[in-house]
Amino acid sequence: MRIYTHSACLLHDTGPGHAERPQRLGAVIEALRGGFDDLDWQEAPRATRGQLLRAHDEGLLASVLEAKVEQRIQLDPDTVLSQASAEAALRAAGAAVAAVDAVLSDACSAAFCAVRPPGHHATAEAAMGFCLFNNVAVAAMHALERHGLSRVAIVDFDVHHGNGTQAIFAAEPRVQYFSSHQMPLYPDTGQVRERGVGNIFNAPLLPGTGSRRFREAWNGRLLPALDAFAPQLLLISAGFDAHWRDPLAQLQLDVEDFAWITGELRALAARHAQGRIVSMLEGGYDLQALRDCSVAHVAALRG
Ligand SMILES: [Zn+2]
Repeated sequence: MRIYTHSACLLHDTGPGHAERPQRLGAVIEALRGGFDDLDWQEAPRATRGQLLRAHDEGLLASVLEAKVEQRIQLDPDTVLSQASAEAALRAAGAAVAAVDAVLSDACSAAFCAVRPPGHHATAEAAMGFCLFNNVAVAAMHALERHGLSRVAIVDFDVHHGNGTQAIFAAEPRVQYFSSHQMPLYPDTGQVRERGVGNIFNAPLLPGTGSRRFREAWNGRLLPALDAFAPQLLLISAGFDAHWRDPLAQLQLDVEDFAWITGELRALAARHAQGRIVSMLEGGYDLQALRDCSVAHVAALRG
């Protein structure tokens, strides 16, 4: 089991009082280092322009990589660019690419990318919702274009809908996207009727939803569709903000729910994808929940 991370991801400075703060990643790394002694830690490389341009346009690359940043620039009301952000964004997306290469070359079967900024709200042309580049989308495009896969699944259990991921792949049948998320909540997308070309599966959940309804949503509709797709590679947008402690949302999941869904996904990947899973850290804004959930997630990925 590999962990990809980079110290640059701790230097992306969103400013005082921002929920998406460096301490989040610090907590995850500290918990994983304390919780396991057999993880294979890898330094994330930088994503190349070519890898990023499979998912994003030139305009977004320029606004993230070429901006002249004195202190901080607001790309949208939630999304901040600091002097260190371009490097962090390159390493976060680069981790995703390197992890895909690792599982598809059998260097390991599963990998977790402990990185920030997160990615699933970033669209082809815009940074938004704390996200600069869409790390999981860059990973999926790399699997299609570099490795020639024809069935890549993206599973997103972050409490927010991954509008960017959905938009990037809404017309791409080689990728299927499966998301459970709170609704109503930012970014206000992710209705059941949003189906793309039949490759999008959304399960909106009301505020207050707990373990039982969360598991029913996955067991009833999302996991059977994912099983039928028989992905060659499974990518996870692993946000831990559906935990009851999280300050940004009102789902009531517990650590065991994240262990459960991860175990289900691992079994599914073992059936169809030779166990190949790449998981990316997305949201999660309570430090204790982040510590507990990331350890439970990695333990379940590792088996
Ligand atoms: Zn989130």
